[in-house]
Amino acid sequence: MQTMTLPEFQTALKAQGVKSHEDFAFKCVICGTIQSGRSLIKAGAGKTFDDVEKFVGFSCVGRFTDAGPHKKGTAPGRGCDWSLGGLFTLHCLDVVDSEGKHHPRFELASPEEAQALAEQNAVAQVASC
Ligand SMILES: [Zn+2]
Repeated sequence: MQTMTLPEFQTALKAQGVKSHEDFAFKCVICGTIQSGRSLIKAGAGKTFDDVEKFVGFSCVGRFTDAGPHKKGTAPGRGCDWSLGGLFTLHCLDVVDSEGKHHPRFELASPEEAQALAEQNAVAQVASC
């Protein structure tokens, strides 16, 4: 388990090198799907980043697309029904805020993964117009 303070967490997100905070990317602990706020908006979790912020790095994008439980051996990308709000505290990253409270989060995606996803989401957005 990795523990980060809030400033460390924010620095790590910035290091992903994406243009918008909507593209900060996380990896689901269960299915390995790389996802961002924009992924969640596209999946219908909300209309704006403010709507989906509470799900980013916390609830898998598959929860909003009825992806169902992750099947072992399935390639990442589809999402699953996992959320860190459940009974099991299976997660890889704990973000500690200034009051010492712990916030479980999915593992951060690498800069390459985050940028690839941002590009993918941007392309898909243009295509849907
Ligand atoms: Zn998942």
